[in-house]
Amino acid sequence: MLKGKTALVTGSTSGIGLAMARALAAQGANIVVNGFGEADAIRAVEQELQGRGVRTLYHGADMSKPAEIEQMVRAAESAFGCVDILVNNAGIQHVAPIDKFPVDRWDAIIAINLSSAFHTIRLALPKMKAANWGRIINVASVHGLVASVEKSAYIAAKHGLVGLTKTVALETAPTGVTCNAICPGWVLTPLVQKQVDARAARDGIGEEDAKKSLLGEKQPSMQFVTTEQLAGLAVFLCSPAADQVRGVAWNMDGGWAAQ
Ligand code: NAD
Repeated sequence: MLKGKTALVTGSTSGIGLAMARALAAQGANIVVNGFGEADAIRAVEQELQGRGVRTLYHGADMSKPAEIEQMVRAAESAFGCVDILVNNAGIQHVAPIDKFPVDRWDAIIAINLSSAFHTIRLALPKMKAANWGRIINVASVHGLVASVEKSAYIAAKHGLVGLTKTVALETAPTGVTCNAICPGWVLTPLVQKQVDARAARDGIGEEDAKKSLLGEKQPSMQFVTTEQLAGLAVFLCSPAADQVRGVAWNMDGGWAAQ
């Protein structure tokens, strides 16, 4: 379905971004891989994606640095011509009450989880508009729709990302470019494993009980969303069936936001 297209997936060396890169490559899209990791592990990711018959480019841009983001988008365009599919996925978390929230963590979360999407979109959009086709998928969170305690920066950034999604969707509405957000609930990736470990340590419980405790507070299905399920939604948003899906914040959250 996506043969000849190129997808830039930020934060695709791990978790949700990696699953989305795999699924888009399986549909034939060339992949620009981004994110941190050991050189060997990143090479292995590229080789695995190339095994699906597509070309890859790795760019290690730090998504908190606008100049590096620009270099990455330009490198993608010079390798492949155009970024047809942009998945803004890179993200970090920090948990603390607002009056104890470290200022440097606030700045980093706003930069990586929100401002980076402004930069990638402003840089990639002109070529999408020229081609009259493009897909922008912002990986927000159920925390882009509702709040929880001790996640002020993350929630501010994700609500901001949902707002940015709507504005870009309106500005691109007369074109073949769409912009939507995906809002996952709990997904068991390294980002959430840290919160499982913190819960286990705080409450003096084992890992399985800590997982149940996290899910029980928020996610009525009592099951983690999988990275593959989220990747399936990203592929749908790239399909012709989704041509008129514009500006949505689509939660996949085991019922979290329905409460
Ligand atoms: P993860 O930690 O497994 O992956 C994060 C990716 O972002 C990694 O590839 C990492 O290298 C990259 N990254 C981090 N900082 C970066 C930076 N400064 N520059 C470039 N890359 C950077 O996390 P994940 O759970 O897969 O999260 C992916 C996205 O999904 C995030 O935006 C996160 O907020 C969102 N999300 C996750 C969950 C969840 O439960 N895991 C729920 C809702 C939303």
